[in-house]
Amino acid sequence: MSWLPPADPGASGGILIVVEPSSKDLGGFRVRRALPSVQRRMVGPFVFLDHMGPVIWQPGQGLDVRPHPHIGLATLTYLTEGSIFHRDSLGTEQAILPGEVNWMTAGRGIAHSERTEAGLRAEGHALEGIQSWLALPRAHEETEPGFAHHATADLPSVADRGVSLRLVVGSLYGQTSPVATFSETFYADATMAAGASLPLPPDHPERAAYVLDGAIEIAGERFEAHRLLVFRPGDAITLTALADTRVLLLGGEPMDGPRHLWWNFVSSSQDRIDAAKADWQAGRFGTVAGDDEFIPLPP
Ligand code: MN
Repeated sequence: MSWLPPADPGASGGILIVVEPSSKDLGGFRVRRALPSVQRRMVGPFVFLDHMGPVIWQPGQGLDVRPHPHIGLATLTYLTEGSIFHRDSLGTEQAILPGEVNWMTAGRGIAHSERTEAGLRAEGHALEGIQSWLALPRAHEETEPGFAHHATADLPSVADRGVSLRLVVGSLYGQTSPVATFSETFYADATMAAGASLPLPPDHPERAAYVLDGAIEIAGERFEAHRLLVFRPGDAITLTALADTRVLLLGGEPMDGPRHLWWNFVSSSQDRIDAAKADWQAGRFGTVAGDDEFIPLPP
């Protein structure tokens, strides 16, 4: 049964901010960073949003993010193509495939690495994914670190009127994802056929859409791929696909105050970030079993 809301012809709500991500070419591997940006620091709990790829790795190539630390956030890894192998200082070893969720709670501290598995590296493969960080509310910043993997089949999904939508995290359209979170949030992956429309009601105070591929129209304006569109709070929004389009919808309740971001650390307190720097330099985050390298603290 469909749980998408009916089309809302009266929805004329619009865009507050259009973020054009900064784009870095890491040797043929493009990463677009939509958050944080000059125009916007956070959308709900989302403080960081990186779109990796798409890239086609040749045989022998792959992703190598060596062990590095995090505090004060949860990482959300979601792929549309390929696979990444995660290891962390809790002893977790987990591959992620498209449509699955890796949710890593850093809390008071965790270290992890993200790499291409040996077999896949030997073959060569395509990779595209989105990594976001959600700041933890102040009451949970020092929570125990944890890691959760969720299979695609466990996530609510629906197909209706040219829209296939998967609710990855949080609550939307009356559904709730099984991924445990620390604040009111939502993160959905919508594939829209050209001409299809999708209403986005103002249930969450802060909302944005990141267009992965294709183009959409909102309130008569056209937006190409690779833009983060931040919506005006309280407005009823309707997204209409102008081509076959894939779009992420995300947001949630506003955070309980600003966050400091430095390297891989997020905190409401600058002193806590300074302590985390010292902890990483002193090797106090623990080791990542099966991965002997590490990324040194940047200067
Ligand atoms: Mn990381």
